[in-house]
Amino acid sequence: MTEELHHGQMQRVLIVEDEVDIADLIKFNLQRAGYEVSQAHDGIAGAEMAIRERPDLMILDLMLPGRDGYSVIREIRRDARTSRIPVIMLTARAQTENRIQGLEAGADDYLTKPFSPKELVLRVNAILKRTDAPPGAVEYEFGPFRFDKNAVKFYLDNEPLDLTATEFKLLLYLCERSGKPQDRNELHRVVWGYSDEVHSRTLDTHMKRLRQKLGAHGALIETVRGVGYLVAAPLS
Ligand code: CA
Repeated sequence: MTEELHHGQMQRVLIVEDEVDIADLIKFNLQRAGYEVSQAHDGIAGAEMAIRERPDLMILDLMLPGRDGYSVIREIRRDARTSRIPVIMLTARAQTENRIQGLEAGADDYLTKPFSPKELVLRVNAILKRTDAPPGAVEYEFGPFRFDKNAVKFYLDNEPLDLTATEFKLLLYLCERSGKPQDRNELHRVVWGYSDEVHSRTLDTHMKRLRQKLGAHGALIETVRGVGYLVAAPLS
């Protein structure tokens, strides 16, 4: 029982990477950090394994045989069984456009090759870190929004809305500090675990997608020029 419980608590990461050396290096470092790791070496097997295994997080190379990383991200985002799995994509140095496309397809973060395995583990830890939910404060309501911090589930006008864990963290952070503009580097640091000094577009892409998902309520998120983002205090 204790064994099973322990097993159940271990977070699982799926690596989809055709370069076996890189995949093995990532696997070694993640296992050492306490994760259970599985691997696929092409896009077709990667998408199948994501749906079958429903890992807690996926590390996905963009350039893959079989089918590329964008197509894999799009598929898992469309499928209700996998739509909330965080994805860190791996890109080659020169592929700025590809990176933006990957973020727009629904990746949570990216790393440019060559990267340090230590950096990768930090990124994985940051994304999988749960929003702190002190006992008695597991639900948070804000205007038409309701956050279930325990289950990481979001409701808009009492209907469940499919936000990824990263989108959930971002929106919750902004709502809990409503009325005060939040600095983009600080936002990035809180949600992704590192600051956005290089203006990676990660934050802006996530904000764009959040606004789209929130529909008419997306206008609650305001861009504050030269600073970052603001959620206006709800009308009461
Ligand atoms: Ca590749």
